[in-house]
Amino acid sequence: MTYMHPILLLVDEQQLVHKGVRKMLSEAPEIEMHSCYAGAEAIKTAEHLGPTVILQDINMPDVNGLDLLAEYRRHPAIADVPVIMLSGTSAAEVKADAFRRGADDYIVKMPHPIELIARLRHHSHAYVEHLEREAAIKALQREQKKLAAANLELERLSSLDGLTGIANRRYFDTVFDREWRRAMRETESLSLIMCDVDFFKQYNDCYGHQPGDECLKLVASSLADAMQRPTDLVARYGGEEFVVLLPGTHARGAIKVAERVRQAVLDLQLPHEQSAVNECVSISLGAATVAPMIKHRPGELLLAADQALYAAKKAGRNRVICGGI
Ligand code: GH3
Ligand code: MG
Ligand code: MG
Repeated sequence: MTYMHPILLLVDEQQLVHKGVRKMLSEAPEIEMHSCYAGAEAIKTAEHLGPTVILQDINMPDVNGLDLLAEYRRHPAIADVPVIMLSGTSAAEVKADAFRRGADDYIVKMPHPIELIARLRHHSHAYVEHLEREAAIKALQREQKKLAAANLELERLSSLDGLTGIANRRYFDTVFDREWRRAMRETESLSLIMCDVDFFKQYNDCYGHQPGDECLKLVASSLADAMQRPTDLVARYGGEEFVVLLPGTHARGAIKVAERVRQAVLDLQLPHEQSAVNECVSISLGAATVAPMIKHRPGELLLAADQALYAAKKAGRNRVICGGI
């Protein structure tokens, strides 16, 4: 942290006081002294100067020193600057009034230079430390905000599949678990569709791995675009397999979605010379539905959809087969 030297603003209408204080401060060259001869000017001067301590007369002809003190305390830029009252009187009630209205210290004119310098240094240092603490807290808060945003982004990225940009298996597992429990609570149907690209090994062999990747990206987007409800979820389950989770959807609805998804992939019209079932890339789909009960396990629904997918492959591919638990 940078050390900031004391910047004193002396507010007093008497030239003589300024002269006296300046002389006393010759022993403390690090204190930068500024003079203000009219109470009415003090706020503007302080705003402009940014003093680290204010030394101020109580009895001034143009303003009441204690009212001026109260004004500093209300001013956002000056509110915390230490104010030492410089007074001709040592009357207890005046001192009490000054402290009540926000003075940090009270000195009776004219003090010994050692006392004045010690107090100016003390209050100035305390204020500079206060400023540094505030700045450090603000910087910390800024960093915390950045960290929170970075964590949010990390969380988002960690739920996406790197190649296709749709949800990954990890995210699917989380949502599947949540939706399973919800469906059980609300005695609703939950449907699942497993999708697998037909003859994809041949696609890679024929066109290369990179075009294979491009094909998977396009298939993933078409699947995602085919969803109509915000709660429907498409995820890459692994390799060239995708899974669709349809909360609150019965078997008939799942078959409709599956057919739409199958058609969406055909509509991409991606040539696939080596496919034995179609001229273009196609997918096979296995759908399964359950209204989960205590006796059921989520794995059973996955298995049912997987078996339906296997049946779709066996039955000639590029089709939907519906299974059940
Ligand atoms: P089927 O019609 O029975 O599904 O046959 P298939 O060839 O699609 O099935 P198989 O499981 O034998 O092969 C899947 C191939 O998918 C194997 C692998 O080369 C390819 N594959 C899996 N993940 C990726 C990937 O991320 N990128 C690319 N380019 N290919 C992948
Ligand atoms: Mg496969
Ligand atoms: Mg395949």
